[in-house]
Amino acid sequence: MLLARPGRFFIRSVACSTRALSSRASAVLSALDIPTTPVELDGVYDGTWKGSGDFIESICPATGEILARVKTASPQELHHAIDRTREAYLAIRTMPAPRRGEIIRQIREALFAKREQLGALVSLEMGKIRTEGVGEVQEFVDICDYAVGLSRMMNGRVVASERPGHSILEVPNPLGVVAVLSAFNFPVAVYGWNLSVSLAAGNATLWKPSPTTPLCSIAVTKIISSVLEKNGLPGAVAGLVTGGKDVGEAVVQSKDVDMVSFTGSEHVGRIVGKAVQARFGKALLELGGNNAAIIMPDADLPLAVPAVFFGAVGTAGQRCTSTRRLYLHSSIAPDFISRLQKLYASVAPGDPLDSATLLGPVHTAAALRIHEEAIEDAKASGGEVLTGGTPFAASDLSSHLRGGFFARPTIVRPGTSSVQHPAWSTERFAPVLRVAEFSDLSEAIAWNNGVPQGLSSSLWTRDMRNVGKWIGAEGSDAGIVNVNVGTSGAEIGAAFGGNKSTGWGRESGGDAWKQYCRWSACTINFSDAAPLAQGVSFPA
Ligand code: NAD
Repeated sequence: MLLARPGRFFIRSVACSTRALSSRASAVLSALDIPTTPVELDGVYDGTWKGSGDFIESICPATGEILARVKTASPQELHHAIDRTREAYLAIRTMPAPRRGEIIRQIREALFAKREQLGALVSLEMGKIRTEGVGEVQEFVDICDYAVGLSRMMNGRVVASERPGHSILEVPNPLGVVAVLSAFNFPVAVYGWNLSVSLAAGNATLWKPSPTTPLCSIAVTKIISSVLEKNGLPGAVAGLVTGGKDVGEAVVQSKDVDMVSFTGSEHVGRIVGKAVQARFGKALLELGGNNAAIIMPDADLPLAVPAVFFGAVGTAGQRCTSTRRLYLHSSIAPDFISRLQKLYASVAPGDPLDSATLLGPVHTAAALRIHEEAIEDAKASGGEVLTGGTPFAASDLSSHLRGGFFARPTIVRPGTSSVQHPAWSTERFAPVLRVAEFSDLSEAIAWNNGVPQGLSSSLWTRDMRNVGKWIGAEGSDAGIVNVNVGTSGAEIGAAFGGNKSTGWGRESGGDAWKQYCRWSACTINFSDAAPLAQGVSFPA
């Protein structure tokens, strides 16, 4: 494996004063008006751009090239940004929701106009392939459409009162300041899910993106701030504070942040969840997945095999919904594995900016180590490697990609099927697929449900009895329960999220918007008496 650069991305001072970006990177950044000649970019926006904290480096995962150095938020700038966000909330909370919807519609138009360019930036900075980079921006566009409609449909309820001359209303109001802490693997869409719904609900949002994808957050914030400015709204309606763990911790601990929407690992999510709970704040957690596909003997293999291939290898195995476990009925297992191996043999690593590429890099040098660990775990359990397992040779890569972080997609058969074993129980964020064989559906469902995580799951069958069992009380315990659809990816219309150690959070569609509101039960007495509920009598 090519370990071109150390995993660290923080630096205290900037050593070089000039940099010559490759034409490949310059073209992508210039198309979004991101300067390519100054060394340092401001990484904080609260109505004005600034940044005087530590520097973070944006590194291209495909080449190892430093794309930019970004000035993060100092503690003072962070607190200032939280104050500005609160002021912005006070400014927009009384704006009629459909008016906020009109702002979201304009944001949607501005994002759509830059869809290809932003998609290319996602590919350049995160490493996902071109079609997925553009698809991620499209997801932001889609959720804006959804939020525009939502802005006219965020209805409360009128509830029948037991007391004469009384009405009970359940009323949604804006919540306040919503902080969005996001992961590296969806550097645009996760913010989009939150911003659009949160803004429709009347909140101001402060974004703390992954420290390894600051350019995506700067580009998105510039597009949104231009819309806010055009409409005479404070920029801090959609503010940005780049930074690492320190900035994240300070955001999470701030009593001035009403809700923390956190997307990331189980490890950090556990810390964040406890910290927010300790101050009785509101947390929405979207954490790791360890997603299984189950293939029954009657499955349509020409559909199932490519779906598992995309689920396990797409995004270089770095989606929260990536397929990490494959449970094959023993009657079709040899055939399925041999078909899958042929597809694995056909995929070659390439430049994610090249639209013909299907396999881009993993995101960092650290991810290469995670890939190795996943393979070692399987071997340590007495297992075997069925495909892959070795690093790419330099000759497998074009010369400009030899400083990049490319991991060979791998299939392993652990030596145990015990879901408690680390070879099965942990999410390894890399393209390693673990395989086992089962004899009946109940056994496969028990394995599906036996891990700590509960994000996505997929059953392949044509038998209605299996479908009923899978989606019912005895079925999958995940937040996403698919039939003849892979584990990876989802549409925005349904609420997205997972159960158990995935955090129980729900974002995007469905009823997810309700979490971004402050709900009140309002009992209104329009009678000439003041009766107590439950017939309680208290004469005074
Ligand atoms: P991560 O947990 O390392 O980082 C996520 C964010 O938390 C980053 O912005 C980081 O700077 C910040 N952070 C780190 N330490 C912190 C602390 N102590 N307090 C506050 N913030 C802190 O995750 P990652 O490596 O960027 O992303 C990969 C993970 O995200 C995977 O586990 C993946 O499954 C998960 N993920 C989940 C979903 C979902 O919807 N369920 C979506 C995308 C990614």
